[in-house]
Amino acid sequence: MRDTLVLNASFEPLSTVTLNRAVVLVLQDKAVVEQAHPELLMRAAAVELPAPRVIRLCRYVRVPFRRRAPWSRRGVLVRDRHRCAYCGRRATTVDHVVPRSQGGADAWLNTVASCAEDNHRKADRTPEQAGMPLLRDPFEPTPADAMLLALGLEEQDALPAWLGRSAA
Ligand SMILES: [Zn+2]
Repeated sequence: MRDTLVLNASFEPLSTVTLNRAVVLVLQDKAVVEQAHPELLMRAAAVELPAPRVIRLCRYVRVPFRRRAPWSRRGVLVRDRHRCAYCGRRATTVDHVVPRSQGGADAWLNTVASCAEDNHRKADRTPEQAGMPLLRDPFEPTPADAMLLALGLEEQDALPAWLGRSAA
């Protein structure tokens, strides 16, 4: 998958996103295409659009790149793509790895997306105490995550299945 460069409204390069994400941003009128792959078309029911190589956001976003992105529950869900850290199913809640009752902080490295069932089952215990190992460790969000978060782009904004790619 080729990545697409994202420019801020001020033309300053921000990040790269997948081609699919770039197309979603354009179709949602959050970005315009600045440069496209001339040989590659994205085809949808009523839309045909050259695969964007560079897009530019329609409004300026302030993205905290060089300093840490501020922690938020919504940010944890976006970072983890709404997948439960314990079972991999759809997550709707945020779990503190080290519970707040044991001094765990509201921080990127101490929080994971979790389904309501696992969050309830784990309760006020650490993964070790609950016998519920993490499928992956929490991490600081990438610049692309921080940008998508600032744009309000959620996982459900993924490309519809009927939008395919074809060579022109
Ligand atoms: Zn779960």
